Amino acid sequence: MANAAIVGGGPAGLSAALFLQKNGVDTTVFDTDGTWMHKAHLFNYPGVGSQDGSAYMETLRSQVDSFGVDREQGEEVTDVAAGDDFTVTTSDEEFEADYLVLATGANRDLAEELGCDFTEEDVVDVDVDMETSVADAYATGAMVRAEEWQAVISAGDGAAAALNILSKEKGENFHDFDTPADADATFVEMSEE
Ligand SMILES: Cc1cc2nc3c(=O)[nH]c(=O)nc-3n(C[C@H](O)[C@H](O)[C@H](O)COP(=O)(O)OP(=O)(O)OC[C@H]3O[C@@H](n4cnc5c(N)ncnc54)[C@H](O)[C@@H]3O)c2cc1C
Repeated sequence: MANAAIVGGGPAGLSAALFLQKNGVDTTVFDTDGTWMHKAHLFNYPGVGSQDGSAYMETLRSQVDSFGVDREQGEEVTDVAAGDDFTVTTSDEEFEADYLVLATGANRDLAEELGCDFTEEDVVDVDVDMETSVADAYATGAMVRAEEWQAVISAGDGAAAALNILSKEKGENFHDFDTPADADATFVEMSEE
């Protein structure tokens, strides 16, 4: 099974993690908990109503945990390098991954270190699939925009990156579509546990 390393556990990083792990890519998230969400109150996240940003993060973390994402909370990534695989370095370990998703908010240092192309506006250059100029490395959220920073946009970027990775892995365009019958089946499974 392929694996992915995600640097940054805000809405962008955890959205990518959710889609990847849910669909069979082993996913590890490294995060230092500096997400701007701790300063926000959401009135503009569709479907959420009114919610404190830290409470939203708590729900999102529980959601990714329930799918089995390996969440390395408090682990700072100090270096990323591309070779046959990606090497992600923290003070504790060197971690190898097939795919890398950068989701470090407005901090673009790791993308620069990796050698990603930047635009004239000095943000990481990506297309709608969020892949950078370095193959299999993705950049999401505030790092790919000079402004227009909103949680739902970051979450969308993370999902777009994940779906592109999943399409590569499955060898065809992948859709993560569930139906009410899937929810009923999950409910039955959970009741039987
Ligand atoms: C005061 C304020 C109010 C806001 N209000 C709203 C609002 O009402 N509605 C709205 O939609 N948006 C709001 N926002 C914006 C919203 O918070 C951001 O758009 C959103 O958090 C961006 O998500 P992200 O995942 O791209 O980055 P972030 O949420 O910033 O997450 C990046 C994560 O990466 C981690 N990280 C960075 N570098 C490393 C590293 N080297 N190793 C490991 N981890 C690392 C950080 O600690 C952080 O947890 C507000 C922002 C601010 C500042």
